[in-house]
Parts: sequence; structure tokens; C-alpha cells
Amino acid sequence: MNITRPFADTLGLIGNTPLVRLAGPSAAAGCDIWGKCEFANPGGSVKDRAALAIIRDAESRGELQPGGTVVEGTAGNTGIGIALVANARGYKTIIVMPDNQSKEKMDTLRALSAKLVLVPPTKFSNPGHFVHTSRRLAEETPGAVWANQFDNIANRRAHIEGTAPELWEQMAGRIDGFTCAAGTGGTIAGVGLGLKAFDENIRIALTDPHGAALYNYYAHGELAAEGSSVAEGIGQGRITANLEGAPIDTQFRISDEEGLDWVARLLREEGLCLGLSSGINVAGAVMLGKQLVAEGRKQPQVATILCDTGFRYLSTLYNPAWLTSKGLPVFDWLADEDAS
Ligand code: PMP
Repeated sequence: MNITRPFADTLGLIGNTPLVRLAGPSAAAGCDIWGKCEFANPGGSVKDRAALAIIRDAESRGELQPGGTVVEGTAGNTGIGIALVANARGYKTIIVMPDNQSKEKMDTLRALSAKLVLVPPTKFSNPGHFVHTSRRLAEETPGAVWANQFDNIANRRAHIEGTAPELWEQMAGRIDGFTCAAGTGGTIAGVGLGLKAFDENIRIALTDPHGAALYNYYAHGELAAEGSSVAEGIGQGRITANLEGAPIDTQFRISDEEGLDWVARLLREEGLCLGLSSGINVAGAVMLGKQLVAEGRKQPQVATILCDTGFRYLSTLYNPAWLTSKGLPVFDWLADEDAS
């Protein structure tokens, strides 16, 4: 029987997530596509791992003292992870977030007792950007540390030491390819480095949404973006410290429409309710699987990340009026309901 051992404290619940074969994507790719269920973390996303690693790192360096404060700029999921870990360790949390992220994430952060600071979305070069605002707030707050998830490589270490060995073990050392999108880049770089340490022939692919600059960087050596995406938590315009030296072998660019199509299919056909970055990752995994099949690899095994739960996006991805306002197709079962 495959049953997990009991944990001595709640932080033990982070990581060691299940891996599941995705039937529709596997059929579409002609090989096996596996999804790492990061939505099963206590905070509902992959970012619990980075939050725990960053806080443990600050503690180990003596920067975070009992009663201290953790400050972070985030699209939301890292903030949720930090708030949970900080509560478990006796710290306060201040989260700076762009005000165009989902209402569910804002409500969740407040419910978890984080102090939430909303700022208008703006370019990274603007001092009002959520990342710079969070750094300033950390400097101004006594006893505070800045988590700095984009350039703090404790983030990717969580994936080198956690996610990658978990995948290797869960797939019994039979893994041909891995792909996911980048926000901070911690997941793609960390899993990439971790898996290559087991077998350097594992192909690591970046799956980029539209509006991000990394596809062009890895394809042509130039940071340049085209188009846009409504996906939250992914889409990067620079080489963060977490992305430095990431072993990216190939890259795909996936539209919101393609990602939404997989979100819809996984929900209706396999009973998984996911956010858009997961749909984009799955679309990338199908492309990677097809590429490996076309090269003649026998029954390739491809893994990707199911980053967060769709329950976090009921007011956006699962809301016909919101989708229509963004010029995106409405899931057909919601469109039917609207018409009745
Ligand atoms: N998907 C979602 C929903 C996220 O919140 C994030 C984190 N920003 C990512 C994907 C990307 O993860 P990473 O920061 O490790 O690149």
C-alpha cells in the first residue's frame, strides 16, 4: 500500500506531492504525460515549496528572529505560501501584489492574516512595481526580511532538492522530458538542474506564455516579448538569479487559448480543476512529447507541473463575463448556463 508516513509538524505537509498520468494529454502526444499535483500543497500551489525554503534559509542565516516579519512582492501564490509558513513559525507577513490579480488570492491572503498592500501593475523599471515596493517596505519595517523570490536562489533550491528527486523517484528513473513555464524561474531552473544531475539526457523545455520574453531569449538570445497573456504567476521579462544557468534545451510558446483548452479538457474529461498556468504547461508537455516521439524515442515519459487549483480563479477563468471582457472563449458548459 502506498501510504505516506505521519508528519511531526504542519510544515512537513509541503512537497511530496502526488504524480498523475494525464489521459487526454497522453493520447494527444502519443506518449505518457505526467502531472505533478502541486495544487495539493497546503496553500494550494507550487509556491509553498519556495516559501518554506526561503524562510528556512533566512532563519539559518539568523536574519529572521522570533516575532519578525516576512515581506514579499508576489502575484499571490508565493504570498499565500509565505503567510502559512510564517504563521507556523511565528512571523508576521506583509504582501505586495499587483491589483489586477484574482480576487480569490487577495481574499485568501487577508484570511490568512497577511497584511495586503495592492499596487497598480506596471513595468519592472518603474519604482512603483510590486517587487520594488516590497523591497522598500522590508527596508522600512524593523525586524523584517525581504523574501525576494525572483533573485533568492533558495527558491530554486527547493526544486533541486525537492521536486526533482521526487519526480525521479516517482517515475522510477524513467523520464525523457520535463517542461513548465517560468514566473520567477525557480521551478524550471530547479527541476531542470535537479533532473540533469540524475541524467543529463533528460530534455528540459521552457514553455512560455505570450507576452513573456524568455522564449525569444532561449531561441534567439534576445529578451523580447510579443502579445500578452492573462495567466497569473508566469511570464518573465528578464533573467532572474533563479534562471541563471538554467539548463534549457528547447522552448515552446503557448497561447492562452491553447492553455484554456487544456484547462477545460482536464476539468471535463479528467475531473481536475486547475489554473491557466497548468493548462499552458500541459500544452507545452504535449508539444515536448510529440517532439520526442517524432525523434523515434520509444514511449517517451514527459512530466510537467500542475501549479495551482482552479478554485483560485472562479471570478476570472471560470467567469463568462470576465473571459468575454478579455476576448477569450467561454467554457462551453458555462456558456450554455448563461444562455438558459
Ligand atoms: N504558476 C502559478 C500559478 C504561479 O503562481 C507561479 C509562481 N509565480 C508559477 C506558475 C511559476 O513558478 P516559478 O515562480 O517557480 O517560475
